[in-house]
Amino acid sequence: MAGRKDVHTLIIGAGTSGLLVAQGLKKAGLPFTIFEQETLSTYQTRPREWGMTLHWGSSHISKCLPPSLVDRMPETYADPSLSPDAVAGLPVYNGKTGELIMEMKAEKPCRVSRRKLRNLFKEGLDIEYGKELVGMREEGGKVRCVFRDGTESVGDVVVGCDGARSKARECICGSDAAELTTVPLTMFNFTEKFEKEQALVLRERNPLFITSIHPDHGTMFWISIQDVPDPDKPETWTFQLLMSWVNNALPEDENNQEGRMKFFKKRAEEYAEPWRSAGRWVKPDTKIPMDPGTYWEKAAPWDSRGGKMTLCGDAAHPMTPHRGQGLNNALQDSSKFVSAMEEVASGSKTLAEAVAAYDKEVLERGLLEMQVSLKQTLFIHNWETLMESPMVKMGMHQARKEEGEAASQGLAKE
Ligand SMILES: Cc1cc2nc3c(=O)[nH]c(=O)nc-3n(C[C@H](O)[C@H](O)[C@H](O)COP(=O)(O)OP(=O)(O)OC[C@H]3O[C@@H](n4cnc5c(N)ncnc54)[C@H](O)[C@@H]3O)c2cc1C
Repeated sequence: MAGRKDVHTLIIGAGTSGLLVAQGLKKAGLPFTIFEQETLSTYQTRPREWGMTLHWGSSHISKCLPPSLVDRMPETYADPSLSPDAVAGLPVYNGKTGELIMEMKAEKPCRVSRRKLRNLFKEGLDIEYGKELVGMREEGGKVRCVFRDGTESVGDVVVGCDGARSKARECICGSDAAELTTVPLTMFNFTEKFEKEQALVLRERNPLFITSIHPDHGTMFWISIQDVPDPDKPETWTFQLLMSWVNNALPEDENNQEGRMKFFKKRAEEYAEPWRSAGRWVKPDTKIPMDPGTYWEKAAPWDSRGGKMTLCGDAAHPMTPHRGQGLNNALQDSSKFVSAMEEVASGSKTLAEAVAAYDKEVLERGLLEMQVSLKQTLFIHNWETLMESPMVKMGMHQARKEEGEAASQGLAKE
């Protein structure tokens, strides 16, 4: 079969997965255009940023990035002065007593900043900003994307890398089938800077992260390092704080800045140190956003229209965050998509065959992890089920098929 090196990919979304696809196609010498809904300026000033644990997924980065950027990966670390070997796992404590329950093992875990990762991955790419996808349709052997600003673009294949609330998923699957399911999880996820001595206390037990589960109500209180501009000036460090619980969402009339802060401070008072003090040290005017947990319960094989439309990253498998797997899977998806396009270029597969094989693998892996992550979310927020959670049984490694089946059975029994 003749190879097709002219297959033009339209990438929707310049988040981690879209950027890595773009880098991989560039490295392979294959044509693409990457579109991002944010403008050049709002792309840099997003109000919501967080850190992520990069672990097994890091092995997929070098397939796509040029060696010069791989070498600069430490720039994306929350604390670039820490070596990737500094920590072997996430320590988990009893929130009431402060006793260590366990350490969740992981493969060279490091905390990366979502913003810094994007900034490194976008180097050398020409991104079309201000392009919000609103529709796509087949057109002969091609596919046409339509953007909110009225412009359109035609390519051979669209890969939707547009995150958990993906418009591309809606275009491919229809709005009903693409819909997210909300789980009874409430999350406060925000960042804070502290005074020098306070910041040092928060990194005493582990330089990257500490988490705790409160036995009385199963609330998780997570603290991790988010940004270290100057290792010698702890007052410049930013921390990420995440408090989450299942059921009992804040009542509507308390779901405002004042109500969330009151709830957060009151609950933090029930904790052992250093979580109690962290709660006291959070400034009263710090903004606390509240989010539900969601995942794609309706996930099922999608119609790629003969290899013209597909999904990657959170768009393909939005999941709850408590197992730290979304980014790691997104990196694997990106590398797999690039390999699929290389197969088309070499002539070993047609576009339809390559995308079908890619879709099958991504969906199977995504379904598996969405189940395991959901089990993690529901089980760690309950003292009775905590020791049966994937965190205890599996650590942070990539889920295997039998572990996904066990997770589904565990959830069905609940
Ligand atoms: C609190 C929290 C903690 C997490 N911790 C971890 C962790 O420890 N480890 C881990 O592996 N994962 C973690 N995750 C998950 C991780 O953040 C995601 O899996 C990852 O960021 C997904 O990357 P993405 O590129 O697929 O999507 P995104 O990063 O969401 O990027 C999507 C991009 O598409 C753009 N876009 C959206 N819609 C459109 C449109 N219509 N047209 C054009 N562009 C569009 C967006 O502006 C954005 O730039 C966490 C998530 C949360 C919420």
